[in-house]
Amino acid sequence: MELDLMIKNGILLDPAGGSEKRLNLGVVKDAIAYIGEETPAAKRLIDAQGLMVSPGFVDTHMHDEELEDPGTIQQALLRQGVTTALAGNCGSGPSLERVREMRKSPWLNLGYLTGHRALREEVGISDVYRAAAENEIARMEDRLKRELSNGSFGLSFGLEYAPNTSPREIEALCRVLADYPNRFVSIHIRHDGPECLESVEEAIGLAERFRIRVQVSHLGSMTAFGFTERSIRLIEEARARGADVTFDCYPYAAFCTSIGSTVFDPGFEKRWGKGLESLEAASGKYRGKRLTPEIYEDMRQNDPKALIIAHVMNEWEIRACLRHPLCAVASDGVLHNGEGHPRAAGAFPRALRWLREEGLSWPEAVRHATALPAEMCWLPAGRMEVGAPADLVLFSPDDLRDCATFEDQLAPPEGIAAVLVNGQIAVEGGVLSAEPCGRLLSRKP
Ligand SMILES: [Zn+2]
Repeated sequence: MELDLMIKNGILLDPAGGSEKRLNLGVVKDAIAYIGEETPAAKRLIDAQGLMVSPGFVDTHMHDEELEDPGTIQQALLRQGVTTALAGNCGSGPSLERVREMRKSPWLNLGYLTGHRALREEVGISDVYRAAAENEIARMEDRLKRELSNGSFGLSFGLEYAPNTSPREIEALCRVLADYPNRFVSIHIRHDGPECLESVEEAIGLAERFRIRVQVSHLGSMTAFGFTERSIRLIEEARARGADVTFDCYPYAAFCTSIGSTVFDPGFEKRWGKGLESLEAASGKYRGKRLTPEIYEDMRQNDPKALIIAHVMNEWEIRACLRHPLCAVASDGVLHNGEGHPRAAGAFPRALRWLREEGLSWPEAVRHATALPAEMCWLPAGRMEVGAPADLVLFSPDDLRDCATFEDQLAPPEGIAAVLVNGQIAVEGGVLSAEPCGRLLSRKP
């Protein structure tokens, strides 16, 4: 057997087995073909002395819906070691027809969820405050069927952004999804802050009634106002009853969304116990500025898609959420015209650092970023074994750290030596390959 590539002398992290061992790893085409102490012949050799070798990171919750953008967010995630990602979250997933046209060769392995709000727009509902009528619901069901048959990974809701969505509308779509194997529903729940517990229960209820998998999105940012522990307990209790509920979290005490969204409708100060001074413009002409009543009015009126970073959550709760054994790291990376929250460029190294600070071993820490999220979406990634996809990240355990900040949002992390996607070297020493190495993923029945 001649290998295409041999990675020598690295410490292989096995998230499933919990082991870290110095072994050689060989790749043939796009799969791991050898793990052992010998050195079979290979066309190319990488010396990973001093480096950890992990399965590539799996990001089940990110945003790549500005399809005119050539792939800024994909590149930012790839530089962090993300090799597989799912876009279209929070209700925003575009139609696959358009995705296939615009995302022919992604930088990483990229799948899409179908967005509930996108479905609404396709049937002509532009008013996010309005409930859908029966005939509109029927048309949304048809479109969802088409998307699921066409390879969508599932359905995403952003209920906070369409606050009067009726149970009838949600249930009709969940009933459609329940007929398709290995699809899930991701839910950005209806309320953050004090009403989040009812909203978590709403998500759990859907998993139970329709026997579908429900992923509660960025649980930290919805609940880290004194409610994270109770929210997780609700999920644990539901799982003990047999409900298929999962969740994810990003490692920042500040969330990010557009100023024109319902999240910033009057009354938000009360939900978070914090005012305009906690809000920072992340894109557009006020980028970097804290909001004043005048800036708030101007942005809401004239630049509603501009992103805001809201420094409003409790970090200790976000940390508690992230270290929970059921919690997947997910970036929720989102950019508007290439600008946004540093999580797009730093979430994974930052989460691993936090998890190490919480006392986890390296295999335990990377499990939250690899095997766990991959299982949550029935993806073959995230495994360190022969036959697994050759999606790998080589990093220096001492140097790994995120560098993206609220000022320098897309600064790449330090300590990532190389990233392999489908057996190809996609990043080496911080430099991207000339051509993208990823594939557009579809879920076939
Ligand atoms: Zn969201």
